[in-house]
Amino acid sequence: MNSQRERLAAQGGTPVRRTLLPYGKQTVDDDDIAAVVDVLRSDWLTTGPAVEEFERALAKAVGTIEAVAISNGTAALHAALYALGVGPGDEVIVPAMTFAATANAAVFLGATPVFADVDPDTLLIDPEQVTARITPKTKAVIAVDYAGQPCDYNALREVTSPRGLRLVDDACHAIGGSDRGRRVGSLADLNTFSFHPVKHITTGEGGAITTDDSELARRMRLFRNHGITTDHRQREKQGRWSYEMVDLGFNYRLSDIQCALGMSQLRKLPDWIARRQEIARQYDEAFRAMPGVNPLERREDVSHAYHIYVVRFDPNFLNTDRGTLFSALRAEGIGVNVHYIPVHLHPFYRERFGTRPGLCPVAEAAYEQVLSLPIFPAMSDRDVEDVIVAVDKVVGAYAS
Ligand SMILES: *Cc1c(COP(=O)(O)O)cnc(C)c1O
Repeated sequence: MNSQRERLAAQGGTPVRRTLLPYGKQTVDDDDIAAVVDVLRSDWLTTGPAVEEFERALAKAVGTIEAVAISNGTAALHAALYALGVGPGDEVIVPAMTFAATANAAVFLGATPVFADVDPDTLLIDPEQVTARITPKTKAVIAVDYAGQPCDYNALREVTSPRGLRLVDDACHAIGGSDRGRRVGSLADLNTFSFHPVKHITTGEGGAITTDDSELARRMRLFRNHGITTDHRQREKQGRWSYEMVDLGFNYRLSDIQCALGMSQLRKLPDWIARRQEIARQYDEAFRAMPGVNPLERREDVSHAYHIYVVRFDPNFLNTDRGTLFSALRAEGIGVNVHYIPVHLHPFYRERFGTRPGLCPVAEAAYEQVLSLPIFPAMSDRDVEDVIVAVDKVVGAYAS
């Protein structure tokens, strides 16, 4: 694209952009704000009608019977494993390439996370590696729809079902995606979402679990409310004051204020997914012509939700490392990020569980080569072009 070498901003040249383009950013419109204000003027600020409305709308959007709103995506994972009865002595298989919360949820319950390696082309959990990690202590498998691409749940079920293991989809990247027409949120036994502002739709902080299993949903509703069987509003309606705490739960409730924002945001999800996919298509096309810049592969027949757009830099084409590319792109005004440091390499896991480099070689190698480029619905075509120009400029400067 750029044949003559321009001086990199990191080396005193002119940056492609003067202001930093973030890798992700929420969109909050006037109607979102109005929805929140309406709740602020109502009788219920938390655990009122907006929670049930949001749960119904979310269940409908993903095609499940139940949705349970909860305080954040981490609490969603915690509640999911609680509902499945995960406890001390159990093992939960998780991919190495994910956010720490996926594995932490098992630790919260006294269980041991067991790290499985990922597929080199998609960085999704590799069903064969899951099989290799199963022991008599294995209770559940959490798959992560990394970057927004649904995992192969048919292949995963062939591994889990015959052994009676439960399957959880950490779908925090993938709301709005689908696999052969089946929507994310309905692909595993329990499916967890986050509504943090960098995710597709936001409630500030927030999360949810979707499922067709009403008994698991009941357990998660108990868990998010201290382990108490009724909530304040139900008692108010029934004119009762007594309640029973039947298990140790948490205060993991999502407020009506947040659920009103979530309802309003959810209506826009289809348009936002379409815009993310459009940006991804522009990137795919540009990078086809750039040796050394390899977008992750897409599985056949999936609709990818593109929470992040990940490229791998091929060291055979570049005479530098990912750290230098990261700094060079930031200097050009492109807010790249890295998803993720393999979880088993964090000091906590090394110290508590004795994990170490070499445990998941595919994830570890990928980690050295990946960058996430900006992608969010409000990006303009000009922003997309800036990213492409900056990547071309930087890889051009380091071409070997
Ligand atoms: C964001 C995220 C979480 C945690 O969600 P929070 O709402 O921040 O607690 C868990 N897993 C994955 C894969 C995520 O991306």
